Amino acid sequence: MDMLPIPYNKLHENLLKTFDAKCLVTDPLRTLTYGTDASFYRLIPKIIVIVESEDDVQELLKQCHTWGTPVTFRAAGTSLSGQAITDSVLALLGDNWNGFSLSDDHNHVSLQPGVIGGDANAKLAAYGKKIGPDPASINAAKIGGIAANNASGMCCGTAQNSYKTLSTMRVILHDGTVLDTGDSGSIAAFKLSHSKLVNDIYTLANETKANETVAQRIAKKFKIKNTTGYSLNALIDYEDPIEILQHLMIGSEGTLGFIAEITYETCIEHSHKASAMVYFETCEMAAKAVQALKMAPVAAVELVDRAGLRSVENEDGMPEFLKDLSDDATALLIEVRGESFDELQSLIDQTSASIALINTVHPVEFSDDVDVCARYWGIRKGLFPLVGAMRETGTTVIIEDVAFPIEHLATGVVDLHKLFKEFEYNEAIIFGHALEGNLHFVFTQDFNTKEEVYRYGKFMDAVCDLIVNKYDGSLKAEHGTGRNMAPFVEMEWGAEAFDLMRRIKHLFDPSELLNPGVILNDDKEVHLKNLKPLPACEEIVDKCIECGFCEPKCPSKGLTLSPRQRIVGWREISSRAAQGLGNKVLRDLYDYQGLDTCAACGLCATACPVGIETGALVKMIRGRKVGDQNRKHAQWFADNYDKAMNISSMGLKAANLAHGILGSKAMGGLTSGLRNVSGKRIPKWTPSMPNGISFDPKPTINGQGDVVVYLPSCATRTMGPAKNDDQKTALPIVTQRLLEKAGYQVRYPEGLNDLCCGQPFDSKGMNDLATYKSEELSKALDKATDGGKYPVVFDTSPCAFRMKLINGVELNLYDITDFLYDHVVGKLSLKKIERKVTVHATCSTQKMNNQSKLKSLVEKCVDEVVIPDGIGCCGFAGDKGFVTPELNEHALRHLTKDFAGVVEGYSTSRTCEIGLSAKAGFPYRSVVYLLDECST
Ligand SMILES: Cc1cc2nc3c(=O)[nH]c(=O)nc-3n(C[C@H](O)[C@H](O)[C@H](O)COP(=O)(O)OP(=O)(O)OC[C@H]3O[C@@H](n4cnc5c(N)ncnc54)[C@H](O)[C@@H]3O)c2cc1C
Ligand code: SF4
Ligand code: SF4
Repeated sequence: MDMLPIPYNKLHENLLKTFDAKCLVTDPLRTLTYGTDASFYRLIPKIIVIVESEDDVQELLKQCHTWGTPVTFRAAGTSLSGQAITDSVLALLGDNWNGFSLSDDHNHVSLQPGVIGGDANAKLAAYGKKIGPDPASINAAKIGGIAANNASGMCCGTAQNSYKTLSTMRVILHDGTVLDTGDSGSIAAFKLSHSKLVNDIYTLANETKANETVAQRIAKKFKIKNTTGYSLNALIDYEDPIEILQHLMIGSEGTLGFIAEITYETCIEHSHKASAMVYFETCEMAAKAVQALKMAPVAAVELVDRAGLRSVENEDGMPEFLKDLSDDATALLIEVRGESFDELQSLIDQTSASIALINTVHPVEFSDDVDVCARYWGIRKGLFPLVGAMRETGTTVIIEDVAFPIEHLATGVVDLHKLFKEFEYNEAIIFGHALEGNLHFVFTQDFNTKEEVYRYGKFMDAVCDLIVNKYDGSLKAEHGTGRNMAPFVEMEWGAEAFDLMRRIKHLFDPSELLNPGVILNDDKEVHLKNLKPLPACEEIVDKCIECGFCEPKCPSKGLTLSPRQRIVGWREISSRAAQGLGNKVLRDLYDYQGLDTCAACGLCATACPVGIETGALVKMIRGRKVGDQNRKHAQWFADNYDKAMNISSMGLKAANLAHGILGSKAMGGLTSGLRNVSGKRIPKWTPSMPNGISFDPKPTINGQGDVVVYLPSCATRTMGPAKNDDQKTALPIVTQRLLEKAGYQVRYPEGLNDLCCGQPFDSKGMNDLATYKSEELSKALDKATDGGKYPVVFDTSPCAFRMKLINGVELNLYDITDFLYDHVVGKLSLKKIERKVTVHATCSTQKMNNQSKLKSLVEKCVDEVVIPDGIGCCGFAGDKGFVTPELNEHALRHLTKDFAGVVEGYSTSRTCEIGLSAKAGFPYRSVVYLLDECST
């Protein structure tokens, strides 16, 4: 541990008495990277405490009180205004805050703060429900942050945000007291123990209600979206101090207490939706349409200004006429939602009629085609990342979030455009939730020079002046005040309302320990301080906006680093190197945290709005680190693949023999001892280790059906079933049998045992060897298929994915899932068996979008299929399961939660199946075995 300053050293010493050391993070790499959020501010925490329970939070608060150390709560860290960062103690939600419980009538859902909003909605969808708040970040943001920011999005407006849909809450106050507002016993006890606080809240609310000017101002300001300052509307909307208390917690950004659970009223998720992209000649006409649409039965109306449209006009699928629109053209993306097709049609008619008298560039045309609607919304959602992706390296992308009273929408847009011109933000674009008067403007900003920071400061002053003094709007409509708008809260609200906020903070947090400096801050320049550098490091990740959307996909998140954290860490290391500063400590830590524990699965890219694959960065750095000796070994391996595979197979056979003699327990003990003694150089052994096999390909003789070229991967050619699996036949034999059952003649490429797709070399960053092997394989496949005449089927998804990427459409390549689903299963006669099984879609299966096909194949064979929650990449990653087994263990830590009665698992990658079997305690095999078993 690094030396901590006083009193953090004492705090740490005392926390160690109750917290597992693993939950206390103080090393320079993780304090930096875990401490980062999506905002453009940077503070590095002294200690990060991973809290797993209410007890942990209570203990931490107690200790922070004792040592006078401020504490900031952190959910997913997607905040944009600097409210989730600290240079003191960061309390990070651990793994155990995923509680989800739905009431019997489905009208209420109780969620713990670690539940990702999108995951809650995925579960609620089965009941035709969703949560109200709908920030664009919902697939990464967690309930704690969504509620504490009062986040909202395209549809929820002010009617379905956390404030409006809150039912009850479990909250932990600064002194560690837990109040459950859904439990009358807890309320009664609280009223006794905290009578002063309850009375003070009551008095404050009464005073506010009695002050007509302030009460009216509050009511008026919350007619439009507003997250500047505290939710003062709680003081006028409710009489009961407990209701007031829990509603003040909404939007309090971790400055009033900890939200340990929240019960929301659920909202209806309509099954029928239609969208129209409507273009207007001028912004005034669009704004007029927005006014009319306010009365129409629409679910969402999003505005995109001319600059926004221009930024996407060259994207795939955009209509040609976009380029010819006038300079002031503005688009509205309108969505309507209904319970049935007939209702939807009626809503479309009413909506179209409401704007029929306003001229549009093209006739209004709604579509309920899922792909068309997804394209429209994709364009809208892609606007912010697009500016991020187009920005100059080293600059930041900033998204501002203001709201105008809706009648001023058009002039508001015009005035903002004037400011962009005046301050030379020429690339700025505007879009937003028009029905709420909520506009986001996005621009790029260089924070590397004093002049640029000054320009930004002056621009913000002008923006605030415009929004507040000309329009009496909101400076933050949905992203929260944070540090970014803290200097302007009083300006927006006026002295009296601001004083209420100060009193609220004092009532809830008299010692100013909870996220101080956020929402209320006396420093009028705090928004210009602690600006985050985004230095250039490697081209493939320079566009990263540190949004954190990739984090939920990553198997190493929580064990070591997430993709965002890998980029943040590498940015710092590169920047220090460029400045000639020492970075050895960070580099050494990064070797394990950043490089060794990345599965290189590429799943991060599937969630990244700018398409970054952090695994590619990791592979690149790994490649640079390969020493001469290792390089020589790898070259020999590539040149002598058949021999190398034989050696591996012999090793597995020997281990299997020893397993047979010693039994699982003794073998486990022996190998783990050897692994420890060898400094973890000997691979980890488990009873699910495959037996070694040697495959001798024998093409179909005298076949008459269609030809298929089959490529068993090097893994399936050398790794047979495990000793404890009752299936004893190697996969290539079973696959050939199944293909023949379906009437195919099976061919193999020549020299099969020397062939490899190159994946093992690619994941170690040895691109040249990876390419050498994949090119060799392509040639062999070209020959075996007579120049692409016959399909090729791969039995291992990662190999199929890689070869499909490399070969494009030249060869007719199939992943096993696709081929079985599209060309085999229809030719078999299947008999369902009574069995409860599970399915694991490998990362490549996910990237090829084949999850549902795989599940459907299994469902054709058995009567019950369980898909475990929250399992993405298994973390085995070819050989990482042997050499860095903790990654596999971490990735699968929740695997068996719902496995009662499950007896087998099915997948499409032999190495992934090893780790899955070891964790589950039953065998995972290729889906081919199941189809073979059920088919004639
Ligand atoms: C690309 C992008 C798009 C976005 N789009 C939107 C949008 O459309 N609408 C919108 O509103 N926001 C948006 N945001 C901002 C942000 O994603 C949301 O506000 C989100 O709800 C924050 O959730 P989080 O889990 O990341 O919280 P964090 O950032 O971790 O925390 C948010 C705040 O909540 C506090 N907090 C966290 N957990 C608790 C707890 N248990 N108890 C008390 N306080 C807690 C933190 O201290 C912090 O002040 C966007 C962000 C990005 C990067
Ligand atoms: S890699 Fe992509 S998703 Fe991840 S933080 Fe960076 S921009 Fe966001
Ligand atoms: S490649 Fe996989 S393991 Fe590596 S950062 Fe991306 S999601 Fe995480």
